[in-house]
Amino acid sequence: MGASLKITGLSVIYGAAIEALENVSLTVPEGGFVALLGANGAGKSTLLKAVSGLLRFENGRARAGKIEYNGKPIGGLPSYQLARLGILHVREGRFVFPNMTVEENLEAAAFAQAGRGPKLPGHVYDEIFGYFPSLERRRGSLAGYLSGGEQQMLAIGRALFAQPELLMVDEASLGLAPKIAAEIFEILARINRERGLSILVVEQNVSLALRHAAYGYVLESGKLVQEGNAESLMDREKLSKRYLGGS
Ligand code: ATP
Repeated sequence: MGASLKITGLSVIYGAAIEALENVSLTVPEGGFVALLGANGAGKSTLLKAVSGLLRFENGRARAGKIEYNGKPIGGLPSYQLARLGILHVREGRFVFPNMTVEENLEAAAFAQAGRGPKLPGHVYDEIFGYFPSLERRRGSLAGYLSGGEQQMLAIGRALFAQPELLMVDEASLGLAPKIAAEIFEILARINRERGLSILVVEQNVSLALRHAAYGYVLESGKLVQEGNAESLMDREKLSKRYLGGS
C-alpha cells in the first residue's frame, strides 16, 4: 500500500544562516515513483531528512513550509514516529552493521519493528529474499564483506522490514558498477509495482532514475529549477546538463 507526500513551500536552514532549501514544493502521489535530481550540494539529502525527521540531528530546521503525509501535517514529528507511520529513509552510505551477518542485520531491523505489531512471520524474510536473491545466497556472510551493491540491497531490505508506505532512497547507485545500479533500480521499480509502495529517490544518475521514475524534480542550489514527467525531463536534460552535474 502506498502513501502520498505533499511538500509545500519548504525552506530549510542549517545553524543560523546556511540556506539549504528555499521554497520547495514537491508531491509524491499514492503509489508513485518520483526522482529528485540535482548536482552535489543542491539540497536533495536535506529534503529527505526534512521528511524523515533527521534534520534535527544536524542542527537543521524547516524555517517555512508544510509537509503532509496522507493529507496530514507531519512536520516536526520525530523519526521513530514517522517510521511507524510508514516513512522509511534509506540514507546515503548504506548503513548496515558490518560485523553482523546479512540475516542478523535483517533480524535487527525486524526487532526494531517489534513495537509496530506482532513478531514478523518468516514469510516476510522470504518476500525480501525474493527481491534480493543474492542476499539470500549470502545470508550467513558478514555485511562488511558484501560488495557495495549487496550492501545497498541489504540497506533497502532492512527498510522493507518496517513495511514502509513511503520509501525514500538516497543515492542508491553511488559508487556502483552500472549493471548493479541498474539492477537495484529494477528491484525498486518492482517493489513499487508489486507492493504499491510510494518511492522517492534522490539520484545523480539522471538517466537511470528517469528510466524508472514517472516524474522528476531538479534542484539547484536549494531551489527547484525544473519538474516534469520523466519523458519530458529526459528531453530537457540535453538542454540542462548544468543543473545535473553532467551525469
Ligand atoms: P549530496 O549529493 O552531496 O549529498 P545534496 O544535494 O544531497 O548533495 P545536501 O547534502 O542536502 O545536498 O546539502 C545542501 C546544502 O546544505 C549544501 O550546501 C551543504 O553544504 C549544506 N549542508 C548539508 N548538511 C549540512 C549540515 N549538517 N550542516 C551545515 N550545512 C549542511
